[in-house]
Amino acid sequence: MRAKWILFLLLFLCIGCGNRKNDIKIETIIEENRHYKIGINYPLTHYQKLDDSIEQYIHTSYQNFLKQQEKEITLTTQNELNIDYTFYQNKEMISITLFKSENEEEEIKTFNYAYKKDYFISLEKFVSSEDVYNIANTLLFKRFGNVLDLSLLKKNLHTSLFSIDEENLYLYYPPYSLSNHYLDTMIIDIPLQKLNIETEEVKRVHHEMMSAEVDLEKVNSIIDANKKVVALTFDDGPSPYTDEIISILKENDAVATFFILGNKVKNYAAVLKKSLEYGNELGNHTYNHKWLTKLKDEEIKKQMQDTQDIIYETLGYTPVLFRPSYGSINQRVRKDIALDVVLWNIDTMDWKYKSTSKIITRATANVEDKSIILMHETYERTKKALPEIIRILKEKDFVFVTISELKQIESLRKYNG
Ligand code: ZN
Repeated sequence: MRAKWILFLLLFLCIGCGNRKNDIKIETIIEENRHYKIGINYPLTHYQKLDDSIEQYIHTSYQNFLKQQEKEITLTTQNELNIDYTFYQNKEMISITLFKSENEEEEIKTFNYAYKKDYFISLEKFVSSEDVYNIANTLLFKRFGNVLDLSLLKKNLHTSLFSIDEENLYLYYPPYSLSNHYLDTMIIDIPLQKLNIETEEVKRVHHEMMSAEVDLEKVNSIIDANKKVVALTFDDGPSPYTDEIISILKENDAVATFFILGNKVKNYAAVLKKSLEYGNELGNHTYNHKWLTKLKDEEIKKQMQDTQDIIYETLGYTPVLFRPSYGSINQRVRKDIALDVVLWNIDTMDWKYKSTSKIITRATANVEDKSIILMHETYERTKKALPEIIRILKEKDFVFVTISELKQIESLRKYNG
């Protein structure tokens, strides 16, 4: 009862303290004591039906949290409840998303409300859901392909959690709904223009999304055939040899993953674009090839983020993979890097061996299903070795895949038993 009391008291007090902003009022609840800490911000709109739903959600969250505190009063740690929001309104609807985090757990709640007609809009009412889920499926594979659980994806692709703003439709997938080992909410943003929704607010010209999406048909056909797969990877580029390397790959119906340096991206924008169009994958290999374990946390994060940024600015593409320069990695570096860290298990040592035939032998002698081969796209001898490496591996019945495809294949096989 005490909890209820405080809530109503606070709500009452906050009627006076709420800020007005674009015709909405922001309510705030802040409480802190030895056992817990609460910080809640949420909007009220003067539309009764919408406000009632929002307040009900806030009340319930708040009360459940306090109830939990009474049960766990012996705990020495300070528990936390935070709720924040995004708000968007156009001429037809209001779209509100509440982001709740309770101790380490996240929850998202969305409200899409047609305020002139006084009803809550479902995604199906809003847009052709077939289009949406086709795109969502592709984007999920592109961004989270390495952690998606296919059986969960089949079951949970349709989500009731969505919101919009002037540019995008957002779909939210709660923790564990699509993956057993991804702890955060997966958020997909789909440009409204891509869905042919022309609201007056959509005025800005959108960049065409790069077609670096994982080719599902290809992944599936490889799995059906139960073929052995191998991933070629090239570090330290792009370089003057990149153009020829991607041509050789294309001629041989092969793909590779290129771990590139941020500071080289601008000079090779065209060839990198072509590489993506050919089905290759780009990963992050730091900005200028530093020894990461010797850097401070902020410097490590900057090496990664600057490279993400320049790749996105130049190509409209966001890498999901990271390979540390010199393979220099420890637990601290891993913590600083928000991407999937990819090393290798076959090292051609092409930086050391000057002979093309030696590189060919090292690349092909010990390859097994799912091997990841390390090469560098900065040596002419590596480029020269490539056609023969491909020929030998093809002869051994290997199919060439990118790292994200490789990860996808691993989970597909797990799923197929
Ligand atoms: Zn390197």
